[in-house]
Amino acid sequence: VSTRDDGDGAATVARWVESAGRVTVLTGAGISTDSGIPDFRGPQGVWTRDPQAQRLFTLSNYVGDPEIRRQAWSSRREHPAWTAQPNAAHLALVELERGGRLQALITQNIDGLHQRAGTSPQLVVEVHGSLFGVMCLTCSAHTPMAAALDRVAAGDPDPACLDCGGILKSATVSFGQSLVPEVLERARRAAVEAEVFLAVGSSLTVQPVAGLVRIAAAGGARVAIVNASPTPYDDLAEVVLREPVGIVLPRLVGALAG
Ligand SMILES: [Zn+2]
Repeated sequence: VSTRDDGDGAATVARWVESAGRVTVLTGAGISTDSGIPDFRGPQGVWTRDPQAQRLFTLSNYVGDPEIRRQAWSSRREHPAWTAQPNAAHLALVELERGGRLQALITQNIDGLHQRAGTSPQLVVEVHGSLFGVMCLTCSAHTPMAAALDRVAAGDPDPACLDCGGILKSATVSFGQSLVPEVLERARRAAVEAEVFLAVGSSLTVQPVAGLVRIAAAGGARVAIVNASPTPYDDLAEVVLREPVGIVLPRLVGALAG
């Protein structure tokens, strides 16, 4: 069965979910744009329009240039995630969890909106980290972002680790920085074990996370992709939906029996 933009795909996926024990969802920036958080790699993405903006998020630049760090702290203070509210798509995934079949919600987003919507924190796998944490690049101490931003607000433009004096950075994965192996392994396992794998709002161009789709398909999962533009993995999916995420997910959850 191949269902593409015929309006019936959401119902098809709902039937899969009803008969599956283990559903894994992968979300990308496209699920948060309705909440006012810009995506980075889409047609109107921050990095698509301004490749120079990537410099702020490249680890070697961050470590080597205090001015880059000052800009990064400033942009963290102004990040829309501090005031953003979850949207209909985030809330639909909370409903999906209530049915008891969601085993993992893997997200490329750092905005915390799945947890804020009400998804159980233990189900959320933040493969690219979280804006709500800070990590010391020297001693690996983890501290809350709010405390570091308080120091920035108090006049320290580049706060250092209070334990060792090392450089602090948001607990997010920058360009040139590896994913946390334990987190990636957890995501990989959730893909292998999935009976239904639903990729939502991701361009599926960033590895190794995008490769989870192939891992899920190889493990026997039925794959559905919901994204505004084509992805490199569309051929692996039985259902591809290009309608807005905020319409498709509520429709899918609404089509579930009970
Ligand atoms: Zn430290």
